[in-house]
Formats: sequence, C-alpha cells, structure tokens
Amino acid sequence: MRHRERRERVLAAVGHPVLVTEPTNVRYLTGFTGSNGQLLLDDPSFFFTDGRYATQSSEQVPDCERVLYEQNTSFVPRLGEILSASGIGELGLEASHVTVQALRTLTDGLPGVRLVETTRSVERVRMLKEPEEVELIRRAQVIAESALTGVMQRWQGGTELDLALELEWAVRTSGADAVSFEVIVASGPRSALPHARPSRERIDPDAVLLVDMGARVQGYCSDMTRTWTNRAPDPMRDVHAAVVEALEAALAVLRPGVLAADVDREAREVLSRAGYGEAFVHSTGHSLGLDIHEQPRLAGGSQTVLEEGMVLTVEPGAYLPGLGGVRVEDLVLVTSDGYENLTSLPRQPV
Ligand code: ZN
Ligand code: ZN
Repeated sequence: MRHRERRERVLAAVGHPVLVTEPTNVRYLTGFTGSNGQLLLDDPSFFFTDGRYATQSSEQVPDCERVLYEQNTSFVPRLGEILSASGIGELGLEASHVTVQALRTLTDGLPGVRLVETTRSVERVRMLKEPEEVELIRRAQVIAESALTGVMQRWQGGTELDLALELEWAVRTSGADAVSFEVIVASGPRSALPHARPSRERIDPDAVLLVDMGARVQGYCSDMTRTWTNRAPDPMRDVHAAVVEALEAALAVLRPGVLAADVDREAREVLSRAGYGEAFVHSTGHSLGLDIHEQPRLAGGSQTVLEEGMVLTVEPGAYLPGLGGVRVEDLVLVTSDGYENLTSLPRQPV
C-alpha cells in the first residue's frame, strides 16, 4: 500500500502538520492495524504507540519515526517535545474525531502551539481508491456473492438468525477477515425496517426476504443487498420492479463529473413516479473502503463531484410498514467514462 504517497497527498492539501488520531485514518496513512496509534503527519512523520505494539509497529510502520510511550500514559508530552524541536507552531486536529477530553489534554499539554481544526482532510484522500484497494474490495465482493449464492442453494429453512449465521460462516471460511458489518436478514413485515437485525423469527418462504451483507478482505469492505419477492404477496413484486428501475436510473447517470446529489435524485424520481417516494427513507448510496460507510454519499444536497476511482453503493429501497420492504444494492467502481458494476448477482435472484 502506498502509505507515504497518501501522507504526502494529505499534507499537500492541508498545508501544515496534522495530528491524526482516528484509528482508520491512522491505518490508512501508516498501515498500522493496532488499537492505539497516533500520527504526527509532517515531513518526516512521527508515529506514536505504546509498548504493547513495539514489534507490530516496527513491522507495519517502517517508514515513520516511531515513538513508544508507556501504556496508560499520554503521548502528548512526547508530541510536545517533537513539535518544539521541529519549531512547529501550528497543528491541525481532526475536528470530527477529537473528543472534548482529548482537546483539553492537547490544549494543556501543548502551550504555544496553535491548534486548528481540519475536517475530512484524510477522508477526502480516501475517497479515491488506488488499484490495490479496488482489488481488495472486488475480492471481498466475490467472496460475499459466492457465500450468498452457496448458502441460498442449500438453505432448508430456519430463522433469520440461522441464515445470518450461515452467511457469516460462509464468508469467514472463504478467505475473508470477517463480515463487513453484521449480516442483515429480514423477512416478511420485518423487511420494512431498513436496518433490521436478524431475529429468531422463522423465515416464511412465501414472504419477502431481504439480505444485506458484505465481506472484509485485508480491512476492505464490500456491501450488497438482494430481496426475494418471487413468492411474496402483492404489491411486493411491483415494489421490487420499481426499486430495480430506480437503481438502473441512478446507474444510467453515474460517471465522472456528475454531482452525487444528481444520482440520488434520479433514483428518487423513479420511486416517486411509482408512488413509493415516501417509502424511500434513506439516501441512494455511499462509498466504502476500510470503513463500511465512507465519503461521498449519494444523497440529496451532496455537492461532491464524482471522480474516476470512487467506489460506491447504489441502493434504493422502498419500505411499506406492516407489509414489507425491498432494497437492491449494487457496488460499482466509477471509471473514466462511466462505471463498472462489481456486483454480478441477478437483481431478482431465484
Ligand atoms: Zn448494504
Ligand atoms: Zn450500503
């Protein structure tokens, strides 16, 4: 992974040193996968961790100056020494991730350093995936799809939890680190809850069945949803058809240069025309990577212009309380002239 290049990109965009403390951002910029690490992003960069991670950090973060401190103490005194030795008077903080308590410790511990807020400086660089990252997301998606296909072929019935567990087992025994989030299995009227947790309810084979799942490979997530409505009562097949039409309308405009909000609007217009506008209660999609939800979002008001190298979910849905819900989610890579669909499962699986 290109950690040094990433650090250079963030530093060039911000224009001054930044203290990176959000664990996924630290991982993205250094390769460190432990639970406690901080990065003074500068030239050179300094990586702080405690003694438990001495060996791990020497292997994972060979290209930063490493600073080890005692577990359960603060890294701020060592940071202060480095800042004054380097003559750094202005330090960026990740405004969305620093707690009130951490801010107090930094303010008290770094007298004479002007602390300035930075917002999404690392997240903005993370929006554009490198080919190696796309490859891991692609592998995660292949694993999740074959898990879903294999499990559904041999599924003999059971509860939502049984099915969720089978799917997770299949994902984890196919080379993934884990599932990318807790598998969502929702059947019958429970499918009308967009983020239902699997229950001990038995799945009725003549009801709607919604499965939303992903795998994680070397940290990178995939995400997809399929909804079975073939045997479900009316109007769920109509809802499914409208949702697929909305997905296709969103994909039809998806290319570099388009506003994220415009992709969302395309999907929303189709569902509104079909009478399900009110039933589409979430945004159309999101990016993913080391986190399951990343910037940009395909949402009304999102002024982000799509660029080649973004990976996005497109997942319109319609939820009819008491009846059921349908969501169909594909995962796509924005290419130079459009998109590549990383999902190959049919939209209405049998
Ligand atoms: Zn999903
Ligand atoms: Zn999603």
